Order: sequence, then structure tokens, then C-alpha cells
Amino acid sequence: MKKIIIILIIVVLLVILGIVTPIVFFKNDVIINVNTSLKTNDFINKVSLGNFESKTVDTSKIGKREVEIKVKSIFGITKKYIRTYQVLDNIAPTIEGKSEVVVYQGDTIDLLKDVKVQDNYDKYIKPTLDGSYDLNKVGEYNLKYLAKDTSGNEASLDLKLKVIAKQSPEVSRTSKGYAIENRNGVTYINGILIANKTYALPKNYGNGLTKETEAAFYKMQSAAKEDGLSLKIVSGFRSYQDQVIVYNKWVNRDGKSVADTYSARAGHSEHQSGLAMDLNWISSKFENSNEYKWLQANSYKYGFIMRYPKSKQEITGYIYEPWHYRYVGLELSKELYNNGNWITLEEYLGIDSKYK
Ligand SMILES: [Zn+2]
Repeated sequence: MKKIIIILIIVVLLVILGIVTPIVFFKNDVIINVNTSLKTNDFINKVSLGNFESKTVDTSKIGKREVEIKVKSIFGITKKYIRTYQVLDNIAPTIEGKSEVVVYQGDTIDLLKDVKVQDNYDKYIKPTLDGSYDLNKVGEYNLKYLAKDTSGNEASLDLKLKVIAKQSPEVSRTSKGYAIENRNGVTYINGILIANKTYALPKNYGNGLTKETEAAFYKMQSAAKEDGLSLKIVSGFRSYQDQVIVYNKWVNRDGKSVADTYSARAGHSEHQSGLAMDLNWISSKFENSNEYKWLQANSYKYGFIMRYPKSKQEITGYIYEPWHYRYVGLELSKELYNNGNWITLEEYLGIDSKYK
């Protein structure tokens, strides 16, 4: 009898406990993709003697997370359960880009510039390029854009890069057959920079004597010194603005047509090239000096030429200037020296020197 009473009491206690505390059967593993729908409902297999409200669970962040689930017993007593769940990203990014790009040989291009990568989770994914190519070599290159998200999901997109030969532009040539090249507004003929009445320099060109010119001058100056002579630069580099002032000064004094015979209009002065210099004395009387005689015999050995020789005014566009020397490098200076019978750059290259 006593035993039966004890068993009855235990059964009644268990029933009361069951009513007070709901019995919940949870699912073991909850794994979900990022930003997809998940509800507390999805965690539960069965609830005995109670009920609960299904609520939306946050799946916006990757990783192991926790959720609180409240279950109400039939007596209205709420119990909280903490469950863990795993948010994953197994969706690869998408890549949008050109499937074929054509460039000219020697050009530069940023192949990743217009590539768009989007991902369900990562805000910004930097695309990369797989494969090698040479923009200096004509050919077809099979490349791939790649994009990888922080979870390691990878996407790729094929890109065909075609490097084609540049069509050679029409080359104009001098009467001696030398190609006239324009590099950023500067004229080079047979690789020689030309600044005369026909060919001007851009306004912003030049910022001093070139290193080579300066070094060659110092070498020449020490050689002259050893012969007991003193060479000095009285005017070296002159900017476009400097030349505006110089030229206008002479125009005011002598008028335009006379000034044009000895002073260059801005942009046309060889002094702006950083390759020319006036030495010792800007005067026709300079030709009577020992320095002048020395320069006539030796300047070519240092890469310099007398730029405006006697009786070549029709060719160079300028009167005889015994003081003006131009650096052209050793090879050409020897050729133009011509045993003291200076050949002008205009004659050598087959060009003129006339304002248009
Ligand atoms: Zn000069």
C-alpha cells in the first residue's frame, strides 16, 4: 500500500513538472546559408506540453551563432533555451567584364579597370587576373579574371586579349629623307632636336641646360683653360617667357624685320632647348679674340657646333653669330665641323628655317 502511494506521488510530481516545464525536442545541427530565411521553428522537432512563437533568426553574418528560443508551458510559464547554429557562405561571387580586349602593341591598359565583382556577402572583392601576357608582343592571350570571397568561393571569367600591330602613321620626311618626328610637340629629325624658325618648341619646354650640354661645356672650358683661355657662358638656357622679353626688347629697338634676323621669336629660340649657349661676348667683334679662334678649331671635339656661321643667313634664318654654340654630340659635331667649313643643321638634315 505504502509503495503504491509513493509511486502515485512520483507520477503526480512528474505530471506537474511536465506542465510547468515544457518538453522540447531540438534538431541537432542547424546549418544555413548567409542571408537566407531561418526561423526558430526550424530548430525544433517537437514540443510537448507547451508552445512557442516562431521568430525570424538573423543569418546576416557568417560564423557560429546563438539564438534564444522561448517556449511557454501550458501554465503560461516561459522557459528560455539557447541553441547554436552555423551560418555559411557557399555562393561564389559573380564577375562581369569584357570577354575580349584588343590593344595596340606597346600601348598600356588596365585590364581590371571595368571589371565588376558582386557577392552575396562580401562588400568589396578585388578581382585579379590569371595568366601572362606581353603588351609589346603581337598575339592572342587567353586570360581569366578571378574573384574570391572571404569564404573561399571562387569565380572566374575568360578574357581573350589580342595585341595587334600598330599601324605606322604617315611619316613626313625632309628633302634629305630624314623622318620628321614630333614627340610631345618637340621636333626631332634623325633624332636631333630642332628649334629654328620653322620648328618651334612647346611653351612649357625646357628647364635649364641639359646635363650632357653642361658636362660637355665644362670639359671644353678646362681644355681651353689649359691653353690659357677663358670661356664663359653669358646666356645659356632661356625659357619661353624669357624669350618673349628678349625678342620684344629688340623689336622695340630695331623693328620686327630687323630683330628677326638675330633674335628668335618665343618658342623658336634654340636657347629654350637647353642645348645652346652664347659664349664670352655677344658681339661681332668676338671673332677677333683668341677664344673665338680656339672655339673654331676645337669646339667640335666636345660635341659643339657653331650654329650660325658666316654667309649662311639664308639657310639658318639668322645672321652670323660667332658667340652662339649648339651641343649636338660628338659624332655629329665632327661631321658638321667639316674642317672649319661648318655645315649647318638645316643643310645637313634638308630643312628650312622660315616663319610660317
Ligand atoms: Zn644665342
